[in-house]
Amino acid sequence: MRINKSKVAIVGCGLVGASTGFSLLTQGVCDEIIMIDINKEKALGEVLDMRDDVEYLNRNTKVMTGDYADCKDADIVVITAGAPPKKGQSRLDTLEVSAKIAKSIVEPIMAAGFDGIFIVISNPVDIIAHYVQKISNLPKNQVIGTGTALDSARLKNIIAEIVHVDPRSVYAYSLGEHGDSQMVPWSLVTVGGKKFYDIVLDNPELMKGIELDDIVNKTIRAGWEIYDRKGTTSFGIATAAVGIIKAILNDENKIIPVSTYLDGEYGQSDVYLGVPVILNRNGVSDILELHMLEDEKQRFNRSAETVRAYAKDYFKKVGLL
Ligand code: NAD
Repeated sequence: MRINKSKVAIVGCGLVGASTGFSLLTQGVCDEIIMIDINKEKALGEVLDMRDDVEYLNRNTKVMTGDYADCKDADIVVITAGAPPKKGQSRLDTLEVSAKIAKSIVEPIMAAGFDGIFIVISNPVDIIAHYVQKISNLPKNQVIGTGTALDSARLKNIIAEIVHVDPRSVYAYSLGEHGDSQMVPWSLVTVGGKKFYDIVLDNPELMKGIELDDIVNKTIRAGWEIYDRKGTTSFGIATAAVGIIKAILNDENKIIPVSTYLDGEYGQSDVYLGVPVILNRNGVSDILELHMLEDEKQRFNRSAETVRAYAKDYFKKVGLL
């Protein structure tokens, strides 16, 4: 008899990778965590630090360093290795460097026989996830970008502050690119089951001096507000990634907006974009197609065009098109 262990490997033990490992560990999500980095000493340092936590946690998770061969039987490999944008750069400016790093990671992992689920965090996340799917040749449901999971959490926080409720009682999505062209379908935002539009109609003072576009811009800027102060963002994305990992490992069928391959859904194809999906043991088991208003669709389409154009250019350049 063999009891299968749940195993998550994290490639890239910088701020995002270390925070993701720590969050996985403290939430007791899996049996084994493998930390991998080109800087082996950094990976080992994170592992040793994390091992000191076990005494005070509710689960004796095994944490170790490893290499790509150890990913062979991993359920999930999280890719966080990348080049965070420097001051003045956008996420899209980091595409070439991050893609080269992703290639150097994905090829040996696939050569080791990996057949699990890749979760890509490295930016520009929509394009890197698409690239990882192409070079790994894994089924599209097995390659996921964190997409707008984090942006949607930020959006909910902002709306929650305006209406004075717990953000978890707000249902709202930021969709499209994890970047400047993301959009919010306002007609679908609800708080405790009540349309946000109706809440504003009933309580006009709530939105005094605030435009909906201000909220969208604040959502887009939220990462940069953190970046400007601490040089990166790490806890928010780590927790979002662990939410995605839990939904997969626990077969939750939870709906989370992540970056996934669109093949006709939302009228788009051949692009990875942030949309709500059902997550379970198969990775993306289904895409939820929201019915948006015409102007919302147009904004979503513009975001898709932006991402697709960048991806196409890069894929052409490296001979993938
Ligand atoms: P960081 O510089 O702190 O860490 C990057 C790590 O990757 C380093 O430890 C480095 O040694 C390692 N690395 C580099 N090349 C490697 C390779 N070939 N193989 C293995 N490891 C390698 O950066 P960070 O702040 O942790 O950010 C990492 C990535 O996450 C960036 O691309 C950043 O833009 C992205 N990010 C994404 C989101 C999101 O919402 N998707 C949020 C925050 C950060």
